Order: sequence, then structure tokens, then C-alpha cells
Amino acid sequence: MTTFDLAIIGGGPIGLFATQFAQLHNLSTITFEVLDQFGGQVKWLYPNKQIKDIPAYPTISGYNLIEQLKFSINNKLKSNYRVESITKNDDFFIINNEYKAKTILLTTGLGAFHPKTLPIKTSEAEDKFINYFMTDPKKYQHQKVAVLGGGDTALDWALQLAPEVEELTLIHRRPEFRGLEASLDKLKNLKNVKITTPYLPKKLQSKTTSLEITLNKVGNKELITSNFDNIFIAYGFKSDNRLLKKWGLELCAGGIKVDRTMATNIPGIYAVGDSVEYEGRVPMIALGFGEAQIAITNIMANLFPNKKITLHSTSI
Ligand SMILES: Cc1cc2nc3c(=O)[nH]c(=O)nc-3n(C[C@H](O)[C@H](O)[C@H](O)COP(=O)(O)OP(=O)(O)OC[C@H]3O[C@@H](n4cnc5c(N)ncnc54)[C@H](O)[C@@H]3O)c2cc1C
Repeated sequence: MTTFDLAIIGGGPIGLFATQFAQLHNLSTITFEVLDQFGGQVKWLYPNKQIKDIPAYPTISGYNLIEQLKFSINNKLKSNYRVESITKNDDFFIINNEYKAKTILLTTGLGAFHPKTLPIKTSEAEDKFINYFMTDPKKYQHQKVAVLGGGDTALDWALQLAPEVEELTLIHRRPEFRGLEASLDKLKNLKNVKITTPYLPKKLQSKTTSLEITLNKVGNKELITSNFDNIFIAYGFKSDNRLLKKWGLELCAGGIKVDRTMATNIPGIYAVGDSVEYEGRVPMIALGFGEAQIAITNIMANLFPNKKITLHSTSI
């Protein structure tokens, strides 16, 4: 079994940046991702959104950001691999009884993704029209679609789909949306967008080429029925902290507790990105990049105590 200097668990944007930064420092690294593709929330929730707060990119799509992050990685990326167990030996960790690493960096974000599903029992025929991810809005050109949900993901998906589809209905159980007001304002100004609130889906029925949804007005018995070619459920994702607890990590407010070097309570395990929580933290990609640099610089100092750590890439 090869012993890697560093195992990175989670292949979202922060895990990818950490992999590239560790590579720059000549650390032998392996990065695990449970899904079949790397990219985390950016890849699965908003690949087509233009992100405007990544340093040096005035604007970049989620998809291109992930492609850029992967571009120069030569270290081992292992997809379709869920890390279930981490066991500590004297001076290394064993991952799933299969891999050995001297140090671990957790970049598990919100946890392995499980979209919250519709609270209605559906048949296989109905499932064909129901989507829990939205990767390519062009696939739905000229269709009649609905997005269900009231947060940023629902509004982002609606904004990406609206220019492609014939008609888009945004369905939410409350009159107010939790997502960005600016996104909602943009949607309200689009001619092919209809906002249906406060309604909850009550019944689904598959027709030959479409799905019939019966919606129930919240607070009374009024029912309306519509047909869609595809519906998108943006009810959020469940985060699974059970594994973190199982690994013996100390948590705070749902995230991993870290010190200023991004070290967790377990010596040799560090954590960065959306997986961690501390006062004042904001879930932003650029912040996660910075945290990864802090963690890896400290990992270097621990792994090679006699080596002078070179901070800047120009001197590496
Ligand atoms: C709709 C929306 C819009 C956003 N817009 C912006 C924006 O404009 N700008 C910005 O800076 N931020 C934005 N964010 C926030 C940003 O996406 C997150 O801060 C960022 O994705 C966090 O990256 P991460 O790598 O820490 O975690 P994630 O992106 O959550 O990735 C974690 C990865 O780890 C994997 N994983 C988890 N557990 C395991 C395991 N046990 N084994 C293997 N793999 C595992 C998961 O499958 C996942 O791929 C937005 C978020 C949302 C939801």
C-alpha cells in the first residue's frame, strides 16, 4: 500500500484547489470524490451561472471554473469513491482499509450530496420527468418546465432555464422567496416566467409525454392542475454529518470545529471549505481557497519540520 503525504476527502472546488496547491508543494496526494464527477456544489447546483467573485476572473461560469481548477492537476483524483472510515495508526491514517496517508484534509463541504426529494410517492413513469440536478439548460429547449423551491438554487436554475425554455413556472409554498431578491426581480421581468405561490404539489400523474401536477394552495383547498415536460426540484440538499461524528471530529453549529491553522481536534486531520464552521465564516469559494493555503502550509511544516517552507510559488 503506497503511503500518500496527504489524502483530500471531497472533490468540490476547495478540494480541487487544495489538490493543485499540494501538488505545487510536491506533496504526494490522493483526492477522493463520492460522485462520478468532481466539482461539488458548483458542478451540480450552478454550472451555468456566471460567478463574479473569484479573484482574477471578472466573470466565469461554474463549469469553466471547475475545468480550470482541474486543468493542471496531475495528482491522483479518485471519483466514485465514498470515504466511510478513517482509522489512525501511529504515524498514518488508513482510509476505508484501502489507502494510507500521513495527513488528511477534509473538504467534504455540505457532505455527500443527497437532494431532498418530493414528499410525494412517485412511480417510475413519473420519475422520468423529475430532475434533482440541472446540468445543461439547453437540453430543455422549447419545453414547458417548472422549478419547485424558494432558495438560491431554485432561482439560479430558473434564471438558467428561462432563456431556453418556452415557459417556466416557479412554484413555491410561500409568497416570499429565500433566494436573492435581484434574481427574483430578473425572473419577474421575463415574459415566459410565471410565479405560482403559495402552492404545494399534491399529486403527480405521468401522461404520454408530460407530467401532470396538481397543486394545492397553501391555507385553503383550492387546486390547480398543469402539465410540464420536465420539473426541477430545488428543495435543497441534506447534509450528512454522521460520518464526521463517526470519525471522532468535534463539530460546532453543524460544521467541523477548527483552529486558526485549520487543524481539527484530531492531530493530523485538517478541514477547510464549507465543511468547517467558525465565527464570521461565509460560504464563499475564495475564502475556501485561502483556508486551503493555510492548512497546506501548516501540513508542510508538520510533515517536514526540518525543511524551510517556501511560501510563494515563484520560489518553489
Ligand atoms: C446556488 C448557489 C450559488 C452559489 N454561488 C456562489 C458564488 O457566486 N460565489 C461563491 O464564492 N460561492 C457561491 N456559492 C457557495 C459555494 O458553492 C461553496 O462555498 C463551495 O462550493 C464550497 O466548496 P467545498 O469544496 O468546500 O464544498 P462542496 O462544493 O460542497 O464540495 C464537497 C464535495 O465533497 C464530496 N464529499 C462529501 N463527503 C464525501 C465523502 N465521505 N467521500 C467522498 N466525497 C465526499 C461531495 O460529494 C462534494 O462533491 C454558492 C452556493 C450555492 C448553493
